[in-house]
Amino acid sequence: PDLDVEELEGVGKVTGAKLKEKGFYTVKDVAFASVKELAEIIGNEERALQIIESARKMLGLHSFISALEVYERRKKIRRISTGVRSLDELLGGGIETRAVTEVVGEFGSGKTQLCHQLAVMVQLPEERGGLGAKAIYIDTENTFRPERIMQMARARGLDPDQALNNIFYARAYSSDHQMILVEHAKSIVKQHNVALIVVDSVIAHFRSEFPGRENLAERQQKLNKHVADLLRLADAYDVAVVITNQVMAQPDVFFGNPLRPAGGNILAHGATYRLWLRKSKENIRIVKIFDSPYHPEGEVSFRITEEGLID
Ligand code: ADP
Ligand code: MG
Repeated sequence: PDLDVEELEGVGKVTGAKLKEKGFYTVKDVAFASVKELAEIIGNEERALQIIESARKMLGLHSFISALEVYERRKKIRRISTGVRSLDELLGGGIETRAVTEVVGEFGSGKTQLCHQLAVMVQLPEERGGLGAKAIYIDTENTFRPERIMQMARARGLDPDQALNNIFYARAYSSDHQMILVEHAKSIVKQHNVALIVVDSVIAHFRSEFPGRENLAERQQKLNKHVADLLRLADAYDVAVVITNQVMAQPDVFFGNPLRPAGGNILAHGATYRLWLRKSKENIRIVKIFDSPYHPEGEVSFRITEEGLID
């Protein structure tokens, strides 16, 4: 069970109230916080560090553990089937909880379709590849379509209205709003059985609000915090986070792939797994895993149909 922040050494009623006001209700919330954000709340970096340390100690997260223990913890990771058998195999069973999976691709490559499909798949019972859980969908490009969810739900034998009811939807109007929505998502995750958070796309607002080299540093700093917030949410609450990313052309590449993921290093370091989608002929799409800590590099294909993504 989640221990109240006030259980922490050095956190009394006053500090406890301040922390709760900013969304840090439990020892777990504090254990996964950064010193900077906590210092902003309690006004002292040293004390923030102490509080975080004691939260981590309380949860057994503060020091070395055996690799066997790591393995035992990893066994608790759950997976959401993508609904595409070959892709599931490539992923070792599906999209992982406690991780951020980044989906990169050109316009029309199927990123949004995959997000819709996962928001349906997560609802299926475990024996059918889901987690019997709900989804949170943060839409930054206004491309979420409930009609599409209904089609995919019907194809998987789910009640379409029920499927819609199990998705918490928010349109993000700016990068700041998008970041605030992650805070709201945290409180939903605590109250409901949510196992998937989608951010489609993670980058659009950041790219349009911070154009050019002169804004790059500020953009990357904000994006860094945003992705770190998402990763912490995934880790602390055992949910899968899926973010989509656009591609950009590299003018100086003459051989090989001239496209690279937007968002630079931040996304490269923030995401645990990265999938690259690209168009093939007609409705066929090719997906490749790159930058994974343990998956072999490989690619498979799927089709986008009325029923959703299929082998
Ligand atoms: P991205 O988000 O990467 O820009 P999308 O996920 O929006 O791309 O994918 C768009 C593709 O999905 C289009 O090629 C479109 O034809 C296909 N698509 C969308 N809806 C359907 C549908 N109902 N039936 C078949 N294909 C569809
Ligand atoms: Mg899209």
